[in-house]
Amino acid sequence: MDQLAVPEGYFTSGAMEDWGLVTYREAYLFYYGNATTITYKQYMNTIVSHEFSHQWFGDLVSPLWWSYIWLNEGFATYFEFKTVEVMEPTWEMMEQFIIKSSQYAMISDSSATTRHMNQDAQTPTAISGLFDRVAYDKAGAVIHQLETIVTYDNFMNGLNIYLNNKSFGNAQPSDLYNGIQAAVDASGYRIADDLTVAEIMETWTENAGYPVLTVERNYNDGSVNFSQSRFILRSSANVTTSNLWFIPINTATRSNYNFQNFNIEFFLTEQNAVKNLNLVPGEWLLVNKGERGYYRVNYDERNWRLLTDYLNSNDYSQISKTSRAQLIDDSFNLARSGRLRYEIPLNLMSLFSRDTDYIPYYAFLTDLDYVDTVLTATDQYDDFKVFNGFLPSACTRRLPLKATGCRKQENRTGRSYFMENLSSLIITNLGR
Ligand SMILES: [Zn+2]
Repeated sequence: MDQLAVPEGYFTSGAMEDWGLVTYREAYLFYYGNATTITYKQYMNTIVSHEFSHQWFGDLVSPLWWSYIWLNEGFATYFEFKTVEVMEPTWEMMEQFIIKSSQYAMISDSSATTRHMNQDAQTPTAISGLFDRVAYDKAGAVIHQLETIVTYDNFMNGLNIYLNNKSFGNAQPSDLYNGIQAAVDASGYRIADDLTVAEIMETWTENAGYPVLTVERNYNDGSVNFSQSRFILRSSANVTTSNLWFIPINTATRSNYNFQNFNIEFFLTEQNAVKNLNLVPGEWLLVNKGERGYYRVNYDERNWRLLTDYLNSNDYSQISKTSRAQLIDDSFNLARSGRLRYEIPLNLMSLFSRDTDYIPYYAFLTDLDYVDTVLTATDQYDDFKVFNGFLPSACTRRLPLKATGCRKQENRTGRSYFMENLSSLIITNLGR
């Protein structure tokens, strides 16, 4: 494989994945040991991984038509994180995938006018328009969800079948589903509720947007009512919300949690369903562990309070960092859409009197940007700035805020790597 750096000004794209020869802007390929920051080094790695992924997804197998461009860009987005994670596990790339790709996709995909994944296009302008956040980040998130549903080994074996069957040819989504289904069947694995890959995936590719799962507990008999509707940020938008998604669900409770096990327990395939989970009234329930399912979760207020109390205790880290980021991001966006009182996410913020992990902090500061924007021209903005100044106090006490050379950073442990990233995030926030 050849890689070519093109001088600045001669290349409008960031990089291009021609077969056997990948071209880049100089800035995306040249690494200077004494000048390139660790954050930028990670960024360069993701670009190289993205373009290399296209050697299979795009070059070896090309989509039948532009409407399926997500078969290229979705996989390239997924593997730009997955491949770097294998090369440098301390960077926790798949955790970063949740906050930087999945949650990022959910912002624009919650508009009333977002498109579905297989949308057709016939003119050059319309085709260019398909290279959007749906084709890249949403498709990457839906692919990650599929990996979780069928398990990683079946997913990778299925991709092998798909790529071998369609080598030097064109593919459409059903070819992908057939390949993964063949791997699932060959392994003897049973997808929850005996659904097929195609049945599940078609609800995610043909419906525009994504759902919010509402979880309402019956504290007398331990059962839970699960219901779904499309999540649209502006609740005033006049949009039909009768679409159904096949939503993969797994759960954790205070006394029974394993945030390393992502097995799907059941699917919600109807508008709503009641499940008897025999929950203990005083224990929190968390759904969609690690936010591997591409949807938001809302709870009844009592369960939100149970989660908040736990996150405000010394046990907070028993809930995984991606799920802490999920609770923060979901609650802020649910409040923003009018589905939840702002009191809930504001109380959840007490987490950050203890939590100094980069993953939840990144999600939080991203969500805070919106609050900042809304309050900018109001009388409350001075109060917000005071509040904002207090925010990082718990973190800054423990952070290495001194400027340090890149070489020194490279010798550090993965933990320090995230501390460097968090330092930069906090300093940016202080500059509001
Ligand atoms: Zn690409």
